[in-house]
Amino acid sequence: MKNQNQRKQIVVKGLVQGIGFRPFVYRIAKRNRISGWVLNNVNGVKIQAEGKKTDLDNFVFQLKHNAPSLSRIDSAQTKPIPPINSTDFIIKKSSGGTKKTTAIPSDLAICPDCIKDIFNSKNKRRYLYPFTNCTNCGPRFTIAKSVPYDRKMTTMKRFKMCPDCQREYEDILDRRFHAQPNCCSVCGPQVYIVGSKGPIKGLKAIEKTVSAIIKGKIVAIKGLGGFHLACSAVNKKTVKRLRKLKNRPDKPFALMAQTANQVEKYCRLSRYERQVLTSPKAPIVMLEKKPRKDIPQIAPGLNHLGFMLAYTPLHQIIFKLLSKHGFNYPLIMTSANLRDEPICIDDEEIQKHIPNIPDPVLSHNREIHNRMDDSVVFLISDKTHIIRRARGYVPDPIKLGKKDKNVILGAGADLKNTFCIVRGGEAYLSQYIGDMEDSQNFYKLSLSKLKEFLGVTPTRIVHDMHPDYVSTRLAKTMPGKKVKVQHHASHVYSVMAEHRLKAPIIGVALDGTGYGTDNTIWGSEFFLVNKKGWQRKGSLVPVPLPGGDKAVFEIWRMALSHITKVFGVVPKTFVPAFKSVSKNEFKTVSKMISSGFNAPLTSSMGRLFDAVSFLALKRPTVSYEAQAAMELQSLCKKAPKTYPRFDIAQTGDMFWANPLPIFEFIRKNSNSPQRISEAFHMSVANMVLDMVVLISKQTKVKNVALSGGVFQNKIILSWCMDLLLKNGFKVYVNEQVPANDGGLSLSAPLIK
Ligand code: ZN
Ligand code: ZN
Ligand code: FE
Repeated sequence: MKNQNQRKQIVVKGLVQGIGFRPFVYRIAKRNRISGWVLNNVNGVKIQAEGKKTDLDNFVFQLKHNAPSLSRIDSAQTKPIPPINSTDFIIKKSSGGTKKTTAIPSDLAICPDCIKDIFNSKNKRRYLYPFTNCTNCGPRFTIAKSVPYDRKMTTMKRFKMCPDCQREYEDILDRRFHAQPNCCSVCGPQVYIVGSKGPIKGLKAIEKTVSAIIKGKIVAIKGLGGFHLACSAVNKKTVKRLRKLKNRPDKPFALMAQTANQVEKYCRLSRYERQVLTSPKAPIVMLEKKPRKDIPQIAPGLNHLGFMLAYTPLHQIIFKLLSKHGFNYPLIMTSANLRDEPICIDDEEIQKHIPNIPDPVLSHNREIHNRMDDSVVFLISDKTHIIRRARGYVPDPIKLGKKDKNVILGAGADLKNTFCIVRGGEAYLSQYIGDMEDSQNFYKLSLSKLKEFLGVTPTRIVHDMHPDYVSTRLAKTMPGKKVKVQHHASHVYSVMAEHRLKAPIIGVALDGTGYGTDNTIWGSEFFLVNKKGWQRKGSLVPVPLPGGDKAVFEIWRMALSHITKVFGVVPKTFVPAFKSVSKNEFKTVSKMISSGFNAPLTSSMGRLFDAVSFLALKRPTVSYEAQAAMELQSLCKKAPKTYPRFDIAQTGDMFWANPLPIFEFIRKNSNSPQRISEAFHMSVANMVLDMVVLISKQTKVKNVALSGGVFQNKIILSWCMDLLLKNGFKVYVNEQVPANDGGLSLSAPLIK
């Protein structure tokens, strides 16, 4: 019988460490009567498996198809080797040097089994214990201080496992085998109320927080990557106070619910959106609102809401206790920070940075080593697009097409920033850092930490060509060869890096603003990228940007700029829209536009959206970037039958798109914001198609990359993709990194 046995060696590469892969191999080996061994080495997981042919086939099939949901198999190479009549299956000790090639996994939302544990009153050690975790869930990167990812290298080091936890940790068949943050109520971290006189700890602390929420207070809760400010989403007075506290009159707040079914009371939820919402990455998912009257203040003027599920045991317990008291509503869960400062991560920070300190502050003694915001995504059909990449995604590397000898740093831009370190064939993007003016120290600290994790020092530094970006100035102080890149070319290269695309390609960047090579401010750029580099082939006819960045918030300025360009004067129809603008300011800005003083030229698409939004919505100012554009998008319900087309003209080597017909259309339809919105979205999508067709006719290139912040507009993104696909183009867009400036740093490996 024994001679019927076969033996195979299997080398599995990908994300296969620190997520219970070896126990999984062990279990399927036992199930299929396979003998042999499995071990972790620097390249991944190596297996030798021996058994009857059918058993062995089943084993290999299950290995590839039933792997733990958190793993990602990039390759599984199998080769037959002579059988040795082994009898048992064992997990061998890890082999192979100290080279830092195995990465730290990203943080994972609480799994269904652990949810069962914390709500099972018979489970003595874990019932309502807010730090319960297992191999399939729990903190990872946020608690990691160094590599390899091992308990003693995490902030869990100070908690010694009790004998029961230790036993689970060592038992290969236990769900907590080698779960580095494993702990229980006997041995693990505890929650407490900050600054309470007699110490309030444990369940009492959670109960106090819960009753404060029910009473309509704003509380602070320390979670996985930082503190949230939390409160009832349906208490209008409280939401108003929170808006005041955060100085955020309109910007939408993220919501948290306990289950997807709860989310579905407020939003439409497709099958795929449900999948992402309930996935271990547990990001905030942007979802279409259902018409409801009880939460109008969460995202005023917008037709979508950002929802995430309770992703830690602490959040789960809070919702459970809330519902015990009959409170079954979502909570606002917004990062505890002011303006664009980094999210607070410890008691000292929250007391220092948040004025009128929330009451109570629910904290805990598991230290957060790596600051981490919640990630934000939206879906088009089954494809996920990331708006903010942080918890659950970082530090998962992005696989690049080829390995670079150099270690490269992509310094990124200035707003919504990330940086990126390229080592070998992998790009490690930092977590969302945010606005560089406010977050320089966070940037520096995260950079030194990521360098330490990866064991590298970049020798090549790619930075934006904008001389005044904080990231540029920082990059210039670093040792290594400095390489400049144009902002929008960088957007296009980020798509190429992500999809491992080869030149030539037509690149389209629809964006806010970025420094151009001709000293104007770019933002609607069409490039031909070939092996030698990129060439600008088309853009929007530039207009003055009166007052620079001020125009981002005073959107009437851009409207005036465009109108002046098109009509010379403000046509009668548009006069009422400017009613609330002071005469003086109107005069000053008119002068800026005519003289060009303090009004650099810009081809920004973001600013064109602002101009159109102002004329459609007649709201002269906004309180956060792209607010009016998002409100305009929210009015777009369907594809219109008629719409104006941009005029496109050729000058020399360049195609220029002129929005003149758009403004004529708006003049004729000035009292129909929905018509303007639908027509304008369709006009922009068709302009993109027209420009790409023109460039393609010249160059015969059929591959197109779309990037830039405007492609976070779901309608623009999907209509552009549809039109291009229908016209025979292959279209690539950012999926693993944001299309906004948060994905820019990924271009670094492709910048020559
Ligand atoms: Zn778990
Ligand atoms: Zn324990
Ligand atoms: Fe940009």
